[in-house]
Amino acid sequence: MHEIILCKLGEVVLKGLNRRSFEMKLMSNLRRRTAKFGKFKIYSRQSTIYVEPVGEVDFESAYAACKQVFGIIAVARAVPCEKTKEAILETAKEYLGETMRHTKSFKVESKRADKSFPMGSIQLSQWVGGYLHEAFPHVKVDVHTPELTVYVEVREDAAYVHGPAEPAAGGLPIGMGGHAVSLLSGGIDSPVSSFMIAKRGVQLEMLHFASPPYTSELAREKVLQLARELTPWCGRLTVHIVPFTEIQEAIRRDCDEEYFTLIMRRFMMRIADKLARELACRAVVTGESLGQVASQTLQALAVSDDAITMPVLRPLIGMDKEEIVKISRYVGTFDTSILPYEDCCTVFTPRHPKTRPEVEEVREIESVLDVEGLCQQALARREMVKIKPL
Ligand code: ATP
Ligand code: MG
Repeated sequence: MHEIILCKLGEVVLKGLNRRSFEMKLMSNLRRRTAKFGKFKIYSRQSTIYVEPVGEVDFESAYAACKQVFGIIAVARAVPCEKTKEAILETAKEYLGETMRHTKSFKVESKRADKSFPMGSIQLSQWVGGYLHEAFPHVKVDVHTPELTVYVEVREDAAYVHGPAEPAAGGLPIGMGGHAVSLLSGGIDSPVSSFMIAKRGVQLEMLHFASPPYTSELAREKVLQLARELTPWCGRLTVHIVPFTEIQEAIRRDCDEEYFTLIMRRFMMRIADKLARELACRAVVTGESLGQVASQTLQALAVSDDAITMPVLRPLIGMDKEEIVKISRYVGTFDTSILPYEDCCTVFTPRHPKTRPEVEEVREIESVLDVEGLCQQALARREMVKIKPL
């Protein structure tokens, strides 16, 4: 049996006049993500995209990849068969036999796009349902809340019997929401914030600050690994690694210790802003969550925002750690995130950080530094690492 993959469109269907461009983008994303698993014919009909193997393919991997493409809300496998009621019944018995054996109730739902097919869709559902019930008498027919819905579709070229649908990534196709710079540390939060903004259709450029020799080669590898683990969702990624040691040393040398983290975060924001402009991005993304640490109080966030004119997106702002961890496990970054390597934020942390800073005060303390020069030097020495997708 030659299975095909059906991808059901999510929010894309709400896009009135733009809908076609969203669908085209989604299909090109699907083509790119499935290409390494073989050749596929990909096309859309109504609210479904069909992914059909051409010749030998790694079907399981392609199916798993489709589930992680933003813009698709559910996926199902299906098998094509001849357009006769007998062939449809035989295919359903053979293809769904194993599932039927473990199901308590079912119904058949048919769609007839080919109006020349001699039966109406209700008639066809009743006919197939009746015979399936005979073949699997322990499975009750339940048209209201069945455990399994057997979908039958009669189209121009063939009829299709679907397996059960599974939830997929949801969101909007990457590329439709423009570009943003996402600050990626080695922690649990920033891979999740990156995932959440990518889910809304945004293509990300990753920015990481490294402070060798205070942060190790292993910490750097960890961040690149996190980026790699994001690629099945976010597509191609580049990590821009900016050296941060000199900036941190300058702050430590010339500023009050209790302001260290606040001023450091202002530098991060400024560099993110500059990089974003250079790469034609329209926002900066961080994994901050209100009140989680001293630098994430309302006052501290205001101090960070004061250093940047680009919009800052903080998708985790209202979430508890537990909720963030749950998404992190779903995304697949959690196990890497908890590896114990130093981040630049954990070197030189003040013993008593200011939790209620005033913007004016911080500006004043920071004014002894050559802010612009330090930012430009750091940016000029950045390294770009193209991540090989998983
Ligand atoms: P995370 O779990 O993402 O590391 P966190 O709770 O540890 O976050 P902070 O260390 O204060 O919080 O960092 C807040 C946000 O700042 C991070 O989510 C990330 O977006 C950004 N950030 C922190 N450190 C770095 C870094 N070394 N490089 C790039 N961005 C960073
Ligand atoms: Mg951190």
